[in-house]
Amino acid sequence: MAIPGFRRAADFSIVKVVAAAVLGLVVLAAGTFSFLVWSTWKIDAVSTARQTEMARHVIGRFRFQLAHDQESATVWDDAVVNVRGYASPESLEWINANLGEWMHTYFGHDAAYVVKPDGQPVYAFSNGVQDEATSYASIEKTTAPMLQQLVAALRQGETIGIEEGIDSPGVTDFRFLNGRPAVVSLKPIVSDSGDIEQVAGEEFVHVAVRYIDGPFLKELETKYDFSNMHFSLTEEATINKASLPLVTNSGDSIGYVVWQSYRPGLAFLQSITPALVIILLCLVVVVGIFIAMLYRRAMANREQEERIRYLATHDSMTGLLNRAAFEARLDTALSEVGDKPRQIAILYLDLDRFKPINDTLGHPAGDFVICEIGSRIGKLVPPGASLCRVGGDEFNVLVTYDQVEAIEALCAAIVDSVGQAICIDGQSVFVGISIGVALSPLHGTDRAELTRKADVALYSAKASGRGCYSIFGQHMDALVRERAEIERDLRDALADRKQFQVLYQPKYFAGTGQVGSVEALVRWQHPTRGLISPVYFVPIAEECGLIRELGRMVLEQACSAAAAWPIDNIAVNVSAVQLRDSAFSIEVMAILAATGLSPHKLELEVTETAWMDSSDSCAANIRALRAVGIHIALDDFGTGFSTFGRLHETDVDHIKIDKMFVDGLGKDRGDEAIIQAIVELARAKGLKTTAEGVETKEQNDFLIRIGCDELQGFLFAKPMTQEDVGALLSGRAKTTPRLSSV
Ligand code: C2E
Ligand code: CA
Ligand code: CA
Repeated sequence: MAIPGFRRAADFSIVKVVAAAVLGLVVLAAGTFSFLVWSTWKIDAVSTARQTEMARHVIGRFRFQLAHDQESATVWDDAVVNVRGYASPESLEWINANLGEWMHTYFGHDAAYVVKPDGQPVYAFSNGVQDEATSYASIEKTTAPMLQQLVAALRQGETIGIEEGIDSPGVTDFRFLNGRPAVVSLKPIVSDSGDIEQVAGEEFVHVAVRYIDGPFLKELETKYDFSNMHFSLTEEATINKASLPLVTNSGDSIGYVVWQSYRPGLAFLQSITPALVIILLCLVVVVGIFIAMLYRRAMANREQEERIRYLATHDSMTGLLNRAAFEARLDTALSEVGDKPRQIAILYLDLDRFKPINDTLGHPAGDFVICEIGSRIGKLVPPGASLCRVGGDEFNVLVTYDQVEAIEALCAAIVDSVGQAICIDGQSVFVGISIGVALSPLHGTDRAELTRKADVALYSAKASGRGCYSIFGQHMDALVRERAEIERDLRDALADRKQFQVLYQPKYFAGTGQVGSVEALVRWQHPTRGLISPVYFVPIAEECGLIRELGRMVLEQACSAAAAWPIDNIAVNVSAVQLRDSAFSIEVMAILAATGLSPHKLELEVTETAWMDSSDSCAANIRALRAVGIHIALDDFGTGFSTFGRLHETDVDHIKIDKMFVDGLGKDRGDEAIIQAIVELARAKGLKTTAEGVETKEQNDFLIRIGCDELQGFLFAKPMTQEDVGALLSGRAKTTPRLSSV
């Protein structure tokens, strides 16, 4: 049995698992990616720091080197002598050779100047050649503060610019010269021997310049594997660039040495990215397959669940809902409370005359009829109503309504539609339907109560002739109780048979007025209820399986009574239920043997409806009975479904025209024509006709005129006791037959 809400739970668990798998994948991918980015960034940061350190070191070294190189010529007696004599061409030539050209070619200095402590230039070298001393003016503005600082320090005897590897004082700093970054170094030209007397602060000063851009950076690039190194006034801070500020002694920056930073982390990340993408894709595929498998399994489970739920709630043959589903829906409908209680109708539908179809045409035909009826009803119930097959030939309908008239119209439509012919293998079969209706809240709001009342109403519909509907009424309850009591009493009464009496109603030859035969009619003298009509208790006996017993009793009494009577035959009514019993014909013959009545003197009256319903065993019984000479009469002819056409196939000897037609004589209903047609047809077929229920002289005259063979009715005689029949037949009876108590 399906568990309510399972599907939702199943859906939810799939969603949960899929969500968890996707989330896991995303977290894994994001985690891996973040870790890689983080480690890349870390590696790159370390690498950039190392590159910056290297650049700082190399540029610091470069700055140191300039002062160091300079010292090789500025601490020299010859230099002191020659700069002092700078006015002479020889000295100037010496200056050019040693303080200009040599420094340029040997150390790669870009420019050199010799100036007096007051800043007056005496020598200039730039662009690879000696220049006019006045060209110093181009850098003077920048170097003047350095010169002043140096001269002031010298005068005061301070040691300035002395450090490890540099023994003479000086000022070295980064400067922006002629639009280019440079290291500028100023050193006093001093005696190395100390033999030349010099006044501190009055020394000539050698100015050396080396630019940091251009060739220097190119050299740095190739030597230390920097890439795209250049000078920039701004830091150019981007993710792929590293920079080193050129900071002067006073802490100002003159610009930056910038390069494309080498990022091994990024390079690594780039190199492994394709592999990572492939791994991620594989992971996605694996997870995808996993999810697909999971989904398929969940789907299969769900389908199975749905199938089970379907089977648990549906009737496999018609595809309609089953009893369990009906009860569940009814419970739901009853439990729904709104502003005002919903009006619900429960229809209990039961097919009439379905069993004979199953018996005669076989179960496949029976199944077809059930499906056909289900589909006919399905077309009539309004949308939203529930139609269920709750048993063999039983259906239930649950429907809401506003007006009871709508339910009545629905029932009438169902009765009408079901009553239409059903075609099976070219043969038309007919079934009817009886409907019992209970209404909620009018008849209750409890399932058990409502279903009981619908059942009672159905019983009432069946009792009032079938093929109709009835809505529950309080009086029906009493009816049901009464029926149950009658059933119980009937069972008891059949045990000793004393409460039953068989009466006999004579049938007269139309021509002679003689009694030709008598019909046995049973009565039940109930101890408290009085005389009960067979019209009432025979159907009950049929339903509760007592008819065989009752039938046998009547047959035994009738046969033994008739054995002594000088009549053509005795007619005994038999029910369809008896006829369907395969042992029936043998039983009849046994009774004939026991009572000594000739088979020719027995006529069995079978109702037209029973004859229509006749199953294989029915037909076999009729054949067997007729074979030994027992006559078969078709009772109540004209009320069933036989057509005159079918009369040709009828395996009967005698037709009893129903009282209904006899009643209609003289009432301008066209019954004269019908009776006449029946009589003519019967005669053409060689069948005997009896008109029953003759009450008037007019009816008598008409029936004699059209050639009816036998007449029966209160006009001649009511059903009478065995003794009365005996008296009547022996001529001892008075002219008017004694009336029985009925
Ligand atoms: P049925 O076989 O059609 O019997 C005729 C019924 O019509 C009898 O009613 C009879 O009393 C009544 N009747 C006869 N002439 C007239 C008349 O001129 N006017 C009126 N108003 N009624 C007349 P009854 O005896 O009450 O039987 C009713 C039905 O019960 C029978 O109808 C028959 O189908 C059934 N029945 C009676 N006895 C038996 C029986 O032993 N076995 C079975 N299976 N059914 C029986
Ligand atoms: Ca009869
Ligand atoms: Ca009859």
